[in-house]
Amino acid sequence: MRMCSIASGSSGNCIYVGSDNTHLLVDTGISKKRIEEGLKQLEIKGEELDGILVTHEHSDHIQGLGVFSRKYEVPIYATEGTIEGIKASSSLGKMPEGLLHPIVVDESFTIGDIMVDPFEVSHDARQPSAYRMECNGRSAAVATDLGMYNEYIVKKLKGLDAILLEANHDVHMLEVGGYPYPLKRRILGDKGHLSNELSGMLLCDILHNGLKHIVLGHLSKENNYARLAYETVKLEVTLGDNPYKGEELDMQVAKRDSVSDILTF
Ligand SMILES: [Zn+2]
Ligand SMILES: [Zn+2]
Repeated sequence: MRMCSIASGSSGNCIYVGSDNTHLLVDTGISKKRIEEGLKQLEIKGEELDGILVTHEHSDHIQGLGVFSRKYEVPIYATEGTIEGIKASSSLGKMPEGLLHPIVVDESFTIGDIMVDPFEVSHDARQPSAYRMECNGRSAAVATDLGMYNEYIVKKLKGLDAILLEANHDVHMLEVGGYPYPLKRRILGDKGHLSNELSGMLLCDILHNGLKHIVLGHLSKENNYARLAYETVKLEVTLGDNPYKGEELDMQVAKRDSVSDILTF
């Protein structure tokens, strides 16, 4: 399998996950042009995509969905609630009805040779989900936009080869920063976003020798920066009750506005 972040951050998200035969995007929260540029680096054409998995209807996840899917007629998979949110989002234009496929969390389905397992996350959207994908005994997950995690989430993220995991904000930067108070409450709440610390703690719960690629993503532009997210998560792992040292991990931070490394596993 391969995984590659085409863009990741509070201003737009688009992650490629695929096998030799099947090519998927998780979210299309950037312009069609930028998605095309990203796919070009992966040597994939828009026509070759087999599906777009949408996590939820916030604009940083669906901004490019209308234009991109109309051009390439890629099937779109999302929960019923997210589909309602997509249809209600006037900026996308008319969504071709036949392309929208409702899915149910915890009911896995296959696209080509990839098995997709959608699971529920706690976030302030209609019916948000995250995705685990498996092919030939390999697996990857994209888990962003989660205000908290629990045993259920940990279970869904066990045994992975690669993960793109949210490390949204530094709690102190957010607290002292210029965001209005209600927005701060929202981000820090159970339906907001995962802080660097919580991201590190979640990672401790899912680390195993086979987890070869860790990508921290969906960083806040205002309340985080790459080095801080990386160091905080690394420290949580080192201090955590597990046999791993942060510096031993293959961990990187996804680039906000450009294509990150292509990971193969
Ligand atoms: Zn969101
Ligand atoms: Zn988001």
